[in-house]
Amino acid sequence: MHKENSDTDTRNRSKKKSGSRCPVSHRCGGCQWIDMPYEQQLIKKQKRLKELLSPFGRIDPILGMEKPEHYRNKVHGAFGLDQKKQPIAGIYEEKSHRIISVEHCYLENEQGTAIIQTVRNLLRSFKIKVYDEDTGYGLLRHVLVRVGKRTGEIMVVLVLASPILPSKNNFVKALCSRHPEITTVVINVNDRRTSMVLGNRDIVVYGKGYIEDVLCGKRFKISPRSFYQINSVQTELLYERAVAYAGLTGKETVLDAYCGIGTIGLVAADRAKQVIGVELNKEAVRDAISNAAINKVGNIAFYQQDAGEFLGQLAEQKISPDVIFMDPPRAGSCEAFLNAAAACGSPRIVYISCNPETLARDLQFLVKKKYRVERMQGVDMFPFTEHVETVCLLSKLNAKQHIEIDLRMDELDLTDAEKKATYQQIQEYLLTQKGLKVSTLCIAQVKQKCGIIERESYRKSASENAKQPQCTKEKEEAIMEAFRHFGMI
Ligand code: SAH
Repeated sequence: MHKENSDTDTRNRSKKKSGSRCPVSHRCGGCQWIDMPYEQQLIKKQKRLKELLSPFGRIDPILGMEKPEHYRNKVHGAFGLDQKKQPIAGIYEEKSHRIISVEHCYLENEQGTAIIQTVRNLLRSFKIKVYDEDTGYGLLRHVLVRVGKRTGEIMVVLVLASPILPSKNNFVKALCSRHPEITTVVINVNDRRTSMVLGNRDIVVYGKGYIEDVLCGKRFKISPRSFYQINSVQTELLYERAVAYAGLTGKETVLDAYCGIGTIGLVAADRAKQVIGVELNKEAVRDAISNAAINKVGNIAFYQQDAGEFLGQLAEQKISPDVIFMDPPRAGSCEAFLNAAAACGSPRIVYISCNPETLARDLQFLVKKKYRVERMQGVDMFPFTEHVETVCLLSKLNAKQHIEIDLRMDELDLTDAEKKATYQQIQEYLLTQKGLKVSTLCIAQVKQKCGIIERESYRKSASENAKQPQCTKEKEEAIMEAFRHFGMI
């Protein structure tokens, strides 16, 4: 980020002082690691995950970004006056309420940063006053830009202290003529003396009032106030990994807890029997319901309720989801939720966390409740910052299920021969062609005999918990025949 032109001296001084490629990074605090090579950032994050989480099990290498800059799809500009009473737009200085002007930021979407500066430049000719926090006088408080990475749609939210924007239509015209990529403009009214950015009234002044984006092949509606992951590229990787961990076959009842606008549940829905989403925020639930309709997903329902309370009710009714996805805020989950998950006895929990400290605390709790951590992996959603997202698979301790889970985990790192057919495809082939029902364990045993896999994870888990059944000669031959059919041997 760098300071505005009117403050060039200070900018040069601070650049010299900090020696940073971003002259305001030491005041902004948004990107603690802006000067650290990206590879090193990933190593540090992996090390942190290891320190906190290795007592629970194996941690796969963190998934980094190919191009780690400008990933933020949501850009926020706070408006204020500089010492010469000129309007400035940027970010709040760390631990203060002073605004630092930002004309370039390595994290933000570049169109977003540019749109915010254009708004600032237009203020004078439209005689729009910037809001003064001390006196409560003035109009423009913040500008929020949200970008749909895949669709290219852009929403500009003008946060005003009152609903009336003078020469509204001409202002919007001037803004959109300079940035034709803008697809919608919304006025959000925040007339309270508060540090909250958004108020609770939206007035659409141009376009449809929301943007849409595409993640993992599904379309999502994003309103000015609903939560949406800020790094779209990495969110796809995160969700794909989470759904792979869930090992869905089409028969499962899935709970998407802390579901926001329903993203994870909707991505998983095609591969499950039914999905239930639970979320506290009313607007997010409304968006989630629209998103189910937009994507024509019929096997999903959303509830607005505290996730712990909701799962407690399921446990009381003896309803047990086969898979629980949980994606709580930074504070982590709560004992009510974790107790209820254990009481339900759900065989698999996929925990997505943006805070490894609270994740470690919650894993500790679940381990005491007879869950085992199977796999964990970091996903770098926030390059140049110290924050790290983690996805984690837990399973209920039970021999049979463990064998199944270990086998499905194997499908995440397949050899070339294995890629030719999944366990499910082989099972379907044998059932339809030979009328034979075979277990995934049998298939894995024959795979090993044929040298298709060398992994033995399922054996280990089986010997820990139970004796392993052996495949009959007839089934073994049929499975070999299926391998030949799929070109695996
Ligand atoms: N899974 C979503 C949202 C994750 S953010 C996604 O990937 O986009 C965490 C969500 O948890 C927020 O939407 C927040 O509103 C919700 N939340 C916070 N506390 C909650 C609670 N006690 N019960 C249910 N939802 C809660």
